[in-house]
Amino acid sequence: MDLIWWLFLVPVVVGVIVVIVQFHRVVPVSEQQRLKDAGCCHQCGYDLQGNESGVCPECGAVIRR
Ligand SMILES: [Zn+2]
Repeated sequence: MDLIWWLFLVPVVVGVIVVIVQFHRVVPVSEQQRLKDAGCCHQCGYDLQGNESGVCPECGAVIRR
């Protein structure tokens, strides 16, 4: 393959990897916030309404209020 092709391909591949990494990092945080706002466990989505222990009975995550 020509060198000029690699000079084009490498930044594109690196860019795609960076976008994927950013996407995976951002989406779970917004999903955790949505679950927390809905009164659910940020880890497993278990409904924590009425839970007073501060620990999710489903997965054992400490509940941040
Ligand atoms: Zn949980």
